[in-house]
Amino acid sequence: MEESTTKIDLLSLDKDELTEFFIQIGEPKYRASQLFTQMHKGLLLDEITNISKATKAKISELASYSLPVIEQKLVSAIDGTVKYLFGLCDGNCIESVVMRYEHGITICISSQVGCRMGCRFCASTIDGRVRDLAPSELLGQIIAAERDLGERISNIVMMGIGEPLDNYGNVIKFLHLVGDKDGLNIGYRHISLSTCGIVPKIKELEKENLPITLSISLHASNDEKRSEIMPINRKYGIGELLDACRSYFAATGRRISFEYTLISGKNDSVGDAEELASLLNSKLRSKNVSMPIHVNLIPVNEVDERDFVHSDKKAISLFAATLEKRGIRATVRRKLGSDINASCGQLRRNSMKSKDLE
Ligand code: SAH
Repeated sequence: MEESTTKIDLLSLDKDELTEFFIQIGEPKYRASQLFTQMHKGLLLDEITNISKATKAKISELASYSLPVIEQKLVSAIDGTVKYLFGLCDGNCIESVVMRYEHGITICISSQVGCRMGCRFCASTIDGRVRDLAPSELLGQIIAAERDLGERISNIVMMGIGEPLDNYGNVIKFLHLVGDKDGLNIGYRHISLSTCGIVPKIKELEKENLPITLSISLHASNDEKRSEIMPINRKYGIGELLDACRSYFAATGRRISFEYTLISGKNDSVGDAEELASLLNSKLRSKNVSMPIHVNLIPVNEVDERDFVHSDKKAISLFAATLEKRGIRATVRRKLGSDINASCGQLRRNSMKSKDLE
C-alpha cells in the first residue's frame, strides 16, 4: 500500500514533467508525448502497443496510471443524461454527469471527495470533505466517460461534488492539462468553474489568465439570508464577493453567471427578486463597468437529509420575470436526467449508506 502511494501519478504530469520522467528512467524523450497522447485517449498501459514490455515494466516500477472505475452507471430514458458513480484507487467514490445538448456533450465533474463548505441544501457536504482530487482524477472522470461512451466531450462544468477553489492547485494543473493539444484539447472557453465564493481564490484565479467562465453560487440577495444557508458567507460577505466578480470581469472580459437555487418560502418571493436585481445592478453595473449579468434559477433539489422544498412553477416564473423587468437575464435551469436523480452528491450518499448497512 505504502509503495503505491509514493509512486509517481503519471496522468497528473504535463508533457515537460513526463519528459523529465523518461529521461530519469533512461528512455528517449519522444516517449513523453507518445504516452501523454495515449493516456489522454483512454488507453491503459497494457493496451498500449508501441511501448515494449520492458519499458512498461520500468515505467510501472516507479509510476502508476489508472482511471476511475465505473461502479454504477445510470442512463436517463428521457434525455440520455448519463450519471456515473466512479470508484477511486483508495475506495472513495465520486460522481460525474454527462449531458447532451445541441451544441455538444457536456460533463459535470467532481473536484473533491465530499465538501467542507457546509451549504445547508447540498447533499455533498453532509459528511464533510474526505480529500481533494488529484489532477489525474479530475482528468480521469472525462477520459473514463469518453472511453465508456465512445464519444468526444466538448464542454466541462466543475459543478459536481466539492468546491473547486478549495482544491486550487490541483484544479489549475488540471485546467492546463485538459487544454493540451495532444490531450483532450478542450479550450478554456468551454470550461465553467462554479464556486460558493472563496474570495481570495477568485482573486488568484483572475491572475492566472485562463479565460474560463466563472459561475457564482449566490442563492440569496442579502448577507443575513446567505449566511444562514451558506456558511462561507460569514467569512466573505456578498459585497466582497461581488467586488471580486467585478474585478474578475474587468480583468478577463469573461462573463460571470450566477446560480440561484430557489427554496420555497426562503428566498423565492418577489421581494427577494427585487432585492437581488437591485444588488446586482448596483454592484456590477456602475462606475464604468457594465457587466452582462445572467442568473440561472434552479428549483432546489430536495435532499433526504434536508427539509428544503422547491418553489412552485408560479413562484419561479414570477421570480424570473421580476429579474428580467430590471434588465437581468434569467433562465430557469432545465432539469436533465430527472428520472435518474442526476443532481450532485445523491448517488454517492446512497452508495455510502448501503455500504454502511453491509
Ligand atoms: N462548490 C461549488 C460547486 C459544486 S455545487 C459551488 O458551490 O458552486 C454546484 C451547484 O449546485 C452550486 O450552485 C450549488 O449551490 C448547487 N446545489 C447544491 N445542492 C443543491 C440542491 N440540493 N439543489 C439545487 N442546487 C444545488
